[in-house]
Amino acid sequence: MYHYSLKPVPVGVGAGSDVRTAGFPSPKSKRGYRPEQPAIPSWKGVHLRIGELHRQGGLVVSFELFPPKTPDQTAKLFEEGIPGLLELSPAFLTCTYGAGGSTKDQTLEIVTRIRREFEVEAVSHLTCVGASREEIGQFLAQARSGGISNIVALRGDPPRGDETFKPHPDGFKYAHELVSFIKQTGDFDVAVAGYPEGHPECPDRHLDWQRLAAKVAAGADLVITQLFYNLADYFEFEDYLRGRLKVSVPIVAGILPILSKQQIERFCGLCGAQIPPDVQAKLDQYADDPASCRAYGIELATRMCEKLIARGVSGLHFYTLNRTASTAAVMKNLGLVK
Ligand SMILES: Cc1cc2nc3c(=O)[nH]c(=O)nc-3n(C[C@H](O)[C@H](O)[C@H](O)COP(=O)(O)OP(=O)(O)OC[C@H]3O[C@@H](n4cnc5c(N)ncnc54)[C@H](O)[C@@H]3O)c2cc1C
Repeated sequence: MYHYSLKPVPVGVGAGSDVRTAGFPSPKSKRGYRPEQPAIPSWKGVHLRIGELHRQGGLVVSFELFPPKTPDQTAKLFEEGIPGLLELSPAFLTCTYGAGGSTKDQTLEIVTRIRREFEVEAVSHLTCVGASREEIGQFLAQARSGGISNIVALRGDPPRGDETFKPHPDGFKYAHELVSFIKQTGDFDVAVAGYPEGHPECPDRHLDWQRLAAKVAAGADLVITQLFYNLADYFEFEDYLRGRLKVSVPIVAGILPILSKQQIERFCGLCGAQIPPDVQAKLDQYADDPASCRAYGIELATRMCEKLIARGVSGLHFYTLNRTASTAAVMKNLGLVK
């Protein structure tokens, strides 16, 4: 998920200070569950490895940001948005990498600044779009010297106007090549993208999941999924990866609490995710009532997360859209913050 970077949204406000520490011990948590001890030690000053973190067995909650478009929005993100999100004690934050490498420097600046100013683990996304091996190598070296130890490795989408993905002549065609390169080049933990409904370019979801298994075979330490609203798709995806393909790395569910009908229809159109009929009916019902639509988005995300947690999901990765309120409300409903 990254398409929200096409349209900046205002930064949200903090969620209150009465929160738990990072790391959520029981993957079987139920609503209202209040664990006493964090399973994962504080990240302050420590280089966390995201693969290792997820392998420890607790429920790991992480948040995704995107690079704002203007200096004012960036200032607001650092003054209000990130502090508000950190009150929810995520294990780490990630920052997306814009289409065509358009936010390359900004992505790196944001993640290194987050580490420096907030001492929280910050993970950079990186795509193959328009970049040679040498340029990707330079990015990784810069990331390393900025204290970044974890990368979300992606092929990326074709730049706007191009119908198909065209690799750089000296670059990579598929994400599994990028994963191998990162693993050979530097000392990073690597997450890759997984698609519970199959990637939209791939005619067969099982084939796409086999290709995901190839990314894991290339060295990926964990999988983070695209947004989805049909839990049956997610469970089939997980069962197939675990049972048929013997993928054993942690699988983290990507969660986007719906904010508005227009926005979610646009995102799902761009990333190929389906909106189930019952969800579409609610979106239609609340088409002119943004507050009720947001409340529905929180309730839907809460119900999905409860079922995922009950199944023992490794982690929840919230697509925050640089906002705090909906993510905070879902975490509160789940008993992950007070
Ligand atoms: C968690 C997450 C974070 C994201 N962050 C960003 C971001 O920061 N910036 C951004 O631009 N985009 C981001 N995206 C979107 C992603 O870049 C797109 O979905 C892109 O179209 C595919 O990237 P991928 O890494 O999954 O590609 P790949 O795994 O390479 O797959 C792309 C397509 O190629 C096919 N394929 C793979 N291997 C082979 C093979 N050997 N032979 C033939 N076909 C093959 C796959 O089935 C699939 O259809 C993110 C997506 C997710 C889920």
